[in-house]
Amino acid sequence: MFSTLSAYAGDPILSLQLAYRDDPRPEKINLSIGLYYDDEGNIPRLESVQRAQEIVNASTAPSVYLPMSGSPAYCKATQELVFGKDSEALRAGRVATIQTLGGSGALKVGSDVLKKFFPNSAARISNPTWDNHRAILEGAGFSVEAYPYFDPVTQRLDFEAMAAYLETQAEQTIIVLHPCCHNPTGADLNSAQWDEVVRIVARRKLLPFLDMAYQGLGEGLERDAYLVRALVKADLPFLVANSYSKIFSIYGERCGGLSMFCANADEASRALGQLQQAVRRNYSSPPAYGGHVVETVLLDPELRALWESEVDAMRERIHEMRLELHRGLVRVHPAYDWDFLLAQRGMFSYAPALAPHMQELIEKYGVYIIESGRICVAGLNTRNVERTAQAFASVLK
Ligand code: PLP
Repeated sequence: MFSTLSAYAGDPILSLQLAYRDDPRPEKINLSIGLYYDDEGNIPRLESVQRAQEIVNASTAPSVYLPMSGSPAYCKATQELVFGKDSEALRAGRVATIQTLGGSGALKVGSDVLKKFFPNSAARISNPTWDNHRAILEGAGFSVEAYPYFDPVTQRLDFEAMAAYLETQAEQTIIVLHPCCHNPTGADLNSAQWDEVVRIVARRKLLPFLDMAYQGLGEGLERDAYLVRALVKADLPFLVANSYSKIFSIYGERCGGLSMFCANADEASRALGQLQQAVRRNYSSPPAYGGHVVETVLLDPELRALWESEVDAMRERIHEMRLELHRGLVRVHPAYDWDFLLAQRGMFSYAPALAPHMQELIEKYGVYIIESGRICVAGLNTRNVERTAQAFASVLK
């Protein structure tokens, strides 16, 4: 019956993670997968999350199904985080939000709903982007093309090329945008550039689909949501997927959200219905436990303040490690221009020049980066950053 099934090549990043796990060398350094590690090299359990877990664990309520759209408290807290507590859009009931299975689940449900109502639209993703964007959008039936984003020669954002490309797109083309901490490049648009994108979206009647998987890890929880606020201000319809995986260090619980900003409350209630239907026919309702933990943190003022300070600490540690890597590289290989690193934000840095040396970095130095030259800066710590700089400099000399 199943003899015609083809083999799945697997996900290259997850395969690399297994290779790292099986590498017996104690000095190995994992800069491949997008996970946040603390300075001890451990995936942290945030104190705010642990305290919320104690509260949720103490509950004697039975585990019943959540509604299709998830926990109402979770959705409200998600809206306030993504759109801002005092958002006029929220007060006017113009946002439809569901709890999703991580950011990935949000992208999948959003793509399915878009395909149903915009069957002739094409989808556009940045070049490069997180690999799963193409997979999810193509899986939903869209034809996908990449827009220029990063110039591998200057190793910086190529905003002119991006803007010029967007100007050529047909009405209702779906444009996937990373509001902060671009994966894989770490090269983000500044607010003036986002304003320009918003103007193009309005002029060309494009349909933005924002993927915000790292809110808080770029410039801060509020500033990272600049694009969300700018689109609301411009009164333009859009979707936004957000993820709690990294910023709560709660990857396995699969917590995220999907929101649609609509023209009015009536439209938002129909949008919510469509999102619910897409959930119902896929997995019926999201898992409850992680969602209750996230909402407990977000809604309890004390835990919320603690969590925000923990997000700040993660962001600052990543920033410090990027500076330290830069300092180390300048020290050991001063002839090379490493300043592109300083312009990057969030969990990743991107050095396409390292891409051809990936195998050498792994085999000779035990430094695991992914094929494209993406470096997970959150895998650096005070003990391995110097060795990483030496390995990078050695392969590029
Ligand atoms: N979007 C981007 C850009 C990501 O980097 C990731 C995770 O690495 C996701 C979405 C998926 O997030 P989640 O793990 O919550 O599904």
